[in-house]
Amino acid sequence: LIPITPTPFLKPSSLNNEREENIMVYCRFRPEIQSEKNLSSSEKKLTIGEDGRTIHITSPQNSTAYRFSKVFQPTTTQESFYNEVARPLVDDVLNGFNVGIIAYGQTGAGKTYTQFGKDIGDELPLTEQEGYGITPRFIKDLLNRVNYLSSDRVRFTVRVSYLELYREKLYDLINDKAELDIRMSDNGFNAPDASQPPIQSFADFLHYIHNGEKNRSYGDNKKNMNSSRSHVLFIATILKEDLENKDSFLSSLYIVDLAGSESVSQTGATGSRLDETKSINKSLFALGGVIEDMAKKSKKSQHVRYRDSNLTKLLHSCFGGNSKTHLIVNCSSSNNETVLRDTTQSLSFAERTQSVKNKPQVNVELSNHQLKQYIQGLKSENSHLRKF
Ligand code: ADP
Ligand code: MG
Repeated sequence: LIPITPTPFLKPSSLNNEREENIMVYCRFRPEIQSEKNLSSSEKKLTIGEDGRTIHITSPQNSTAYRFSKVFQPTTTQESFYNEVARPLVDDVLNGFNVGIIAYGQTGAGKTYTQFGKDIGDELPLTEQEGYGITPRFIKDLLNRVNYLSSDRVRFTVRVSYLELYREKLYDLINDKAELDIRMSDNGFNAPDASQPPIQSFADFLHYIHNGEKNRSYGDNKKNMNSSRSHVLFIATILKEDLENKDSFLSSLYIVDLAGSESVSQTGATGSRLDETKSINKSLFALGGVIEDMAKKSKKSQHVRYRDSNLTKLLHSCFGGNSKTHLIVNCSSSNNETVLRDTTQSLSFAERTQSVKNKPQVNVELSNHQLKQYIQGLKSENSHLRKF
């Protein structure tokens, strides 16, 4: 276990520098599932190097290697994956950094399992602790730390949003799947009307996730949503107020379960099928575009295509912005030809992402006006919450 050490209440000025940090990429393999066991094997072999960082795809003709921050074996437990990839970020969020944890990979590769856990998409409640993915574990640790650090002098408010982006439309999963506008503000693009209820306990968190999940899977079926084709964003904002010095800081945590990446590599589709694929994946294509622009970015003036999709607008701070970002590339360990083709596409995407540099910064002190807005938001939120 990596212990979370108590940290002092940090002043922003001591951390606000221009240090650049590359996006960290972690690869997680899941075990083969039953249906894959019956698939034919290709002559290619997928192996993890002894350094624990390299993936080799070897065929009789050639060999390709992909290198990441770390590669996790199919036997890795939820707990150890969380401890290595996400837990160190808990203190960063509490010290005022924005943090992004993004899962990328083909449908069935383990993105939802990694980000939320085993039961989240089922009718069953998310109760099995060892099945918990990153989000419940992160929130549990975050709330523990908040309780530990709270005093007469320091006060924290943690609020959560749960959003779904499908075919370029953004929905509020906490508020009956209301459609939301994305607007440009001082802090970049956001969805100002999204519900952001405050949470005090882990039970509060589970309540919103379960309600949100119902909206997502069993809600308005006129929309005929296919869950593997939508992006899910869990956002927590943390307001920290030093009541003595009247300082206040706001940081945010983005945990993103991206749509299945397989359609990006699907080249066989034609006609209306192709149009649909294109429109559904506009966001993923745009994300690839942003990463390409960032990778090429040598001069500050270079244009980055954030405006090409709502996903890239919303994740602006995670890709080339001021967040600490960890990308997780989820892969099947099957060496079936078709599965491997998608795995290879995911690995190439993830490898390119590593060249994106962010400038993590502690968020500047909030103005009185911003603070007022936040508190007012809290009040209007309370009236909405009576629904539950
Ligand atoms: P995705 O969200 O990428 O479409 P899921 O997370 O739904 O994929 O995973 C597909 C299936 O594989 C689920 O039944 C899930 O429980 C299982 N699974 C995924 N990752 C793992 C893992 N690391 N260990 C065991 N089972 C896994
Ligand atoms: Mg999923």
